Amino acid sequence: MNSPRSIFDNATLRLTLWYMLILMTFSVVFSSVLFRMASEEFGRTLGPGRPGETRIFIDDDRIVTWRQQRIDESNARLISNLVLINLCVLLGGGALSYLLARRTLEPIEATMESQARFTSDAAHELRTPLAVMQTGTEVALRDHHATKKSHEAVLQSNLDEIHRLRLLTDRLLMLANEHEIELVPVAVDDAANEAMNRSIVIAQTKHISIDNRVGRHTALAHQESLTDTLTILIDNAIKYSPAKSIVTLTSEVRDRIVTITVKDEGIGIDPHDRDHIFERFYRADSSRSKRNIEGHGLGLSIAERLISRQHGKITVESTPGKGSEFCVHLPAAH
Ligand code: ADP
Repeated sequence: MNSPRSIFDNATLRLTLWYMLILMTFSVVFSSVLFRMASEEFGRTLGPGRPGETRIFIDDDRIVTWRQQRIDESNARLISNLVLINLCVLLGGGALSYLLARRTLEPIEATMESQARFTSDAAHELRTPLAVMQTGTEVALRDHHATKKSHEAVLQSNLDEIHRLRLLTDRLLMLANEHEIELVPVAVDDAANEAMNRSIVIAQTKHISIDNRVGRHTALAHQESLTDTLTILIDNAIKYSPAKSIVTLTSEVRDRIVTITVKDEGIGIDPHDRDHIFERFYRADSSRSKRNIEGHGLGLSIAERLISRQHGKITVESTPGKGSEFCVHLPAAH
């Protein structure tokens, strides 16, 4: 299979040739029209003239030959000039066509590279739970002295991995979702309540309380997408916070923008990571290795996508060791 790089190089070359073909067709057609017009003009000014034109002719063979020579010389000079111009167009136009083709295809190349990276990252994330399930099942099958209890343990571990795979595939589908959404006035407190209800069980297992102070503001949004976004932010706030801490939800309207804030007292985000946390599959080292917190690094990229489709944005402020504040900004409905 061709690599994205070689596909891109081939496409650049083909587009360059097309641009050059168009340019040269115009240049050659223009040159031949110019040549015809100019040589007719030479013939007219140096030749015997048209009926009705008043000219004084000295009908001498030498003068006729001289005139013809002048016409031939002018035509030859014109041809060599036009050939030179066309050569310049070919060289200059070739370089320009190549640059133009590169610029045209650059966004496509970036998309192809990001797709390839995305597929490889997704495959990598899918592989780990599958490998765990495969090894567990193979070991259990080979163990002839295995008890019902040990089989149950394997099944339980497999079930956990299946839950993880479900979450991952759900999130991948959310990322791939391209269908149109209709923006309508949405009461942001309804979305916040629904998101809080979805996350309450995980919060309770960590004895984290959610202080929901979101007011009855109306944003121009898509209810389901806003609820999904807030669920992601609340889930993260719980995941990256110590037990018995508080997650606070607030809202305000300023300059026709509704802002919903999810604030936690968790581990915070390193300034170096802050620029990357919205990238697909990005996980800060502190959450990936040191603390072993579960996740795939897809939540925030989905949240950002959902909010940008509603013409809004997400901002973040965070102090490592103290906590983070994620703000969702959406246009107010009225
Ligand atoms: P995941 O949580 O599955 O790793 P996300 O895309 O939701 O993926 O988040 C990306 C990264 O951003 C996380 O791995 C974590 O390092 C950081 N992060 C997100 N939310 C918070 C938060 N509330 N507190 C601290 N770090 C966070």
